[in-house]
Amino acid sequence: MAEANNTPYPYEAPVSQELFDRASVVTPGGVNSPVRAFRAVGGTPRFMVSGTGPYLTDADGREYVDLVCSWGPMILGHSHPEVIAAVQAAVARGTSFGTPGEGEVALAEEIVDRIAPVEQVRLVSSGTEATMSAIRLARGFTGRAKVIKFAGCYHGHVDALLAAAGSGVATFGLPDTPGVTGAQAGDTIVLPYNDIEAVRAAFAAHPGEIACVITEASPGNMGVVPPREGFNAGLKAACQENGALYISDEVMTGFRTSKAGWFGVDGVVPDLMTFGKVMGGGFPAAAFGGRADVMAHLAPAGPVYQAGTLSGNPIATAAGLAQLRLLGDAEYAAVDAVSEQLRALVTEALTKEGVAHRVQNASNMFSVFFTDGEVRDYDDAKGQESFRFTPFFHSMLEQGVYLPPSAFESWFVSTAHDERAVERIAAALPAAARAAAEATA
Ligand code: PLP
Repeated sequence: MAEANNTPYPYEAPVSQELFDRASVVTPGGVNSPVRAFRAVGGTPRFMVSGTGPYLTDADGREYVDLVCSWGPMILGHSHPEVIAAVQAAVARGTSFGTPGEGEVALAEEIVDRIAPVEQVRLVSSGTEATMSAIRLARGFTGRAKVIKFAGCYHGHVDALLAAAGSGVATFGLPDTPGVTGAQAGDTIVLPYNDIEAVRAAFAAHPGEIACVITEASPGNMGVVPPREGFNAGLKAACQENGALYISDEVMTGFRTSKAGWFGVDGVVPDLMTFGKVMGGGFPAAAFGGRADVMAHLAPAGPVYQAGTLSGNPIATAAGLAQLRLLGDAEYAAVDAVSEQLRALVTEALTKEGVAHRVQNASNMFSVFFTDGEVRDYDDAKGQESFRFTPFFHSMLEQGVYLPPSAFESWFVSTAHDERAVERIAAALPAAARAAAEATA
């Protein structure tokens, strides 16, 4: 890896700023996904031009240790040679056929092999499509309309699920969004996360009406807020008792928190599951799957319609398959170890500066809350001193560490985060912790 002009980091990013100015003319807010615009932290969004291993290089030629990893997918780091080779080989054969192909069969087989509750799977192009389709299927299968979701859980920008969602929606403090009608969100029941009594009460209040409960398997979109012991099992039981389906959204956790995602950690068997991010190897590939008798209701086998021009795209499936095949026990152990190391370093730096904080993790996913107590739900997450995050973020950025530009997101690491990358993060943390300590609301 060539040394970029990375010390000291001039705070300005003139080339990124010029690109952002151009982008803002032709694209709303200058970005194609809101959180990229840095609105929560201010400053110039960095336009990246390349990525290798744990590093990103921006348009100004500065190198950053990347703790976003494309919001999860890049679990082997950027430009992994075997993933790139698989992509190049696939591209050479053509980019899209609009017919079935062997690559999508192989990727589906890999998913079914890894995740026991998935008997059948349908490939789509984004996590949003996966959750939207899973909800439609649950409604079609049960003949019921209502959906339970949890405040702070983000399932993509599905109309019915953009109620009290986390992620970018949390960042912007929009409890809802214009453009989603009362009819679209009216069948969505939003409950506090980790509150099984609220779930039981909702089922009691709406007998025979609830099609499904959808939950992030272990939420990462209000920061990392793992399910309390028995919560997911309680959801499953409540669904079973009431004839509803339990949908576990593993778009973020799938193939990341273990070889079998969060299911591999807590073993609770969902009726349907959704996947994305890691399974696409950096390309637009996602999936939903689960019980064969439920999936049999999907067209053309059954009456519930779902389709996609680029579903099972040969390049995306080649990338995803190559990445999954490289991810064995040793790789997950390596990612977990780096995550543990970083969590300890962050804790040490913030403790030294006397900053109230709590580092929470779900396997190798983790985030830092500027608060003392346990964060169990969205209200707890919103209660943190998020004003401390902004100077913390900018200090890290200035020192060449690229964090998620929001206090409500998970940090992601990869197998490529080696000793040198960790040392660079360690070197940046003391000044960032000081900046957080000095922050005022
Ligand atoms: N579900 C979860 C848990 C997610 O984290 C995300 C995206 O961050 C989605 C669904 C939506 O995925 P996509 O952005 O690919 O549409």
